[in-house]
Amino acid sequence: MSLAEVHDTAKTLLLAQGFSESHSSAIARTVTAAERDECRHHGLFRIPFYVNGLQSGQASGTEEPTTTWLTDSIVRVDGHRGFSPLALEHGHKPLVERARRHGIAALAVNNTLNVAALWPEVERLADEGLVGFAFVSAIPYVAPFGGTKPVFGTNPMAFAWPRLGKPALVFDQASSMSARGEIQVRLRDGKPLPDGWAIDASGQPTTNPLAALSGAQLPFGEAKGSNIALMVELLAGPLIGDALSFESGEDDKAKTGAPCGGEFVIAIDPSKCMPGGSLEAQTTHAEKLFDLILSQDGTRLPSDRRYQARERSLKQGVDVPTSLVETLKKLSTGALYSNRQSYEGDPISDSNGA
Ligand code: NDP
Repeated sequence: MSLAEVHDTAKTLLLAQGFSESHSSAIARTVTAAERDECRHHGLFRIPFYVNGLQSGQASGTEEPTTTWLTDSIVRVDGHRGFSPLALEHGHKPLVERARRHGIAALAVNNTLNVAALWPEVERLADEGLVGFAFVSAIPYVAPFGGTKPVFGTNPMAFAWPRLGKPALVFDQASSMSARGEIQVRLRDGKPLPDGWAIDASGQPTTNPLAALSGAQLPFGEAKGSNIALMVELLAGPLIGDALSFESGEDDKAKTGAPCGGEFVIAIDPSKCMPGGSLEAQTTHAEKLFDLILSQDGTRLPSDRRYQARERSLKQGVDVPTSLVETLKKLSTGALYSNRQSYEGDPISDSNGA
């Protein structure tokens, strides 16, 4: 598919399913960006999750986000149980404007369902010459280090740094050893998990995907990843008056796997962080570090893979599995998502799980 086809397929389908024009457009833009950068878990593959969220009553497809100011430099966007892309788009401009005015500003996004990657919101900030951070907690799948029961979500955080004349440096990573989708793919393909990814329901290490899904995923880097997951919980939850992962899990009565909760985004204007600051001087300084890293064989910068994929997709379009296209065709007639189950299993069978 060309990227225009990806966008139109997503948008037409979302409209047919009852999403408003503004939600359909924002989700279609997010899904298209993910396909473009070969982040397929968040591309068209995600459409059934959005549809499932709406059909099950977990999500609103029509509520417009509302924006309020908590202080001069903290903006709040309430998504009223809509999906996150539209709420994040609403928050972007005010966040940028206040970060430029005050040097640092924050965006608290509340009551949104987030099944997307975080790099789009921080990359957008870096494109404006700002440093960006984003944090989201999710449904409890991950045990705290030393424990055996899931408490944390896979809790991603993202960071972006602006570069002059080049796309921003961005990383965006879960705090678990693996994405949940990676385990689902191995279950589908009958493959074992690598050691260290998960424990079973009795707390024993397991390489069996099914046992892992009913047990707990493990944080990356033992206590260190566990502490990052803890920080993400606090920033995306209590700090901004939103749910912890276990609370989002309890709220998801239909087990859609689309958690309703918060996202916390921070934007910093580098030029205001030092006397006589200048974006040009500060980013030129940073390039010395990137050059030093890249001078070693085997290294690359985070986001390089995405930018290479982006270049390719803009020229050639993207591959979409036939089985996924068939599912999307049915949904674009406004059909019910035929096998509505949970995030745990079903939609993965409609994709290549890339
Ligand atoms: P990955 O492990 O695939 O990648 C994590 C980061 O590391 C990326 O920024 C990646 O850059 C970078 N990276 C990978 N290899 C290298 C390398 N050799 N050198 C330098 N950097 C490298 O991501 P995760 O599986 O942890 O997360 C996947 C996505 O899932 C994220 O986008 C996250 O936001 C999303 N997610 C969303 C959740 C939600 O609730 N909404 C929950 C959990 C995850 P690059 O992209 O260039 O490969």
